[in-house]
Amino acid sequence: MSNRRRFYITTAIPYVNGDPHLGHTLELVQADVLARHRRLRGDEVRFLSGTDDNALKNVDAALAANSPVADFVAEKAQQFLELATPLQLSTDDFIRTSTDPRHRPGVERLWRACAQAGDLYQRDYEGLYCSGCEAFIAPAGLHDGRCPEHDEAPEPVAERNWFFRLSRYQEALLDLIETRRLRIEPEHRRNEVLAFIRSGLSDFSVSRAQERARGWGIPVPDDPTQVIYVWFDALANYITALDFGRGGDSYGDWWRESDERLHVIGKGIIRFHAIYWPAILLSARQPLPTAIFVHDYLAVEGQKLSKSLGTAIDPLAVTERYGADALRWWFLRDVPRAGDADFRAELVAARANELADGLGNLINRTIALLSRNRPDGVRPRSAVLDEAAVLEALSRKVPTAIDDALGVFDFRAATAALWEVVTEANRFVSATRPWELARAARAGGEDADARLELVLGALSDACRLITFELTPFLPIAAARINAALAELDAERGRALFAKAPALA
Ligand SMILES: [Zn+2]
Repeated sequence: MSNRRRFYITTAIPYVNGDPHLGHTLELVQADVLARHRRLRGDEVRFLSGTDDNALKNVDAALAANSPVADFVAEKAQQFLELATPLQLSTDDFIRTSTDPRHRPGVERLWRACAQAGDLYQRDYEGLYCSGCEAFIAPAGLHDGRCPEHDEAPEPVAERNWFFRLSRYQEALLDLIETRRLRIEPEHRRNEVLAFIRSGLSDFSVSRAQERARGWGIPVPDDPTQVIYVWFDALANYITALDFGRGGDSYGDWWRESDERLHVIGKGIIRFHAIYWPAILLSARQPLPTAIFVHDYLAVEGQKLSKSLGTAIDPLAVTERYGADALRWWFLRDVPRAGDADFRAELVAARANELADGLGNLINRTIALLSRNRPDGVRPRSAVLDEAAVLEALSRKVPTAIDDALGVFDFRAATAALWEVVTEANRFVSATRPWELARAARAGGEDADARLELVLGALSDACRLITFELTPFLPIAAARINAALAELDAERGRALFAKAPALA
């Protein structure tokens, strides 16, 4: 039996009322690292991203831009899709909820399953609606009469809607989260969800009047006066992209029978993912996600990323200026597992320089030393070199250290463990001074030559390990280093199989 695990990972799907900003890219990079890390360890991985095209605020933005909604949404969604290249994302699939033929049948099937379970009913409703959240907000959840997430006053809305019997799932959800069959990380987010559930769950509205949706979105099956609530629609993307609606095989492979189903999301949408979504799946008698990782937000000079505040940073401007490696490395080295991170260009610049000075130098020096002094390659080491003990011990530990850190979504701890090896390898070079050994060896010193062999062997091993473990974090840089190492190997290949001299 194969012990390869099957791992399904998703990002949230952002609504597309504007251009992508830096805040969107943190989550994409974090999810990409987790996907690549699992692939590197031999797991089967499917990595999904996409866009929430059916959000009402997309309609508002299109109207404001004087553009047909479908065109506006298509143009913005394309920008999100195209982040994959500059950010080096390894997404396997990208779903657009308005145009993807897999989406609507899946949402309808999910709706009908909840209806069949007796969990959908109609009710007149009056409440305060935040169009930023696309949700009704209880008066207790407001700060000075405004939505704390969007700093806008919600509008009073009264209409007859379909409701989902969330209250029925309170005990089941508590049990699932308390027993960690549904993991929520980090721990303080789990506690936040548990407290919310314990305070009592109310049924929530899962449809909107057709007029209020201005005809945009997916109609309620058998009730064309209503459009399915965009959160019910959007959350379903995680399974509609697996062809849940049309009975394709992917649903069985990647949801029903996969070993892990992980959602990576931002802190603002935790209630939808950790409460509504699992309840909908329980109602529809489908498996739940196994884990939800919640990241915090990026700030700019202490302020929230926002177009109106002029703090919306264009991720492409950052990657053009500093390179994608630097941006990814900054996310992974500096953004804490919990707590907001402050974006400043000089921090990204510092991480770019760290890569050039620490890793770039190490690899360049090692390749130069190897090609000059051991063109036929280093032999397997026959003796122990005391000075290499720390480097070898760190190298042995680093794969597990990375696995453990990424297992709890601690990107900083994972990259710190890898960087410790880089730092130690540089210290090892300075301490053993291989260029001096090479000079002594060329002058005929046999001891120097034997020692040089050991030093270069240890360096070569460390660089190959660092490159391998670097792959999930900086895939293109790792490929570039691999190519340089492979070129070195190819030169040795030529030395092993010398061409025959030309015939006279
Ligand atoms: Zn809001």
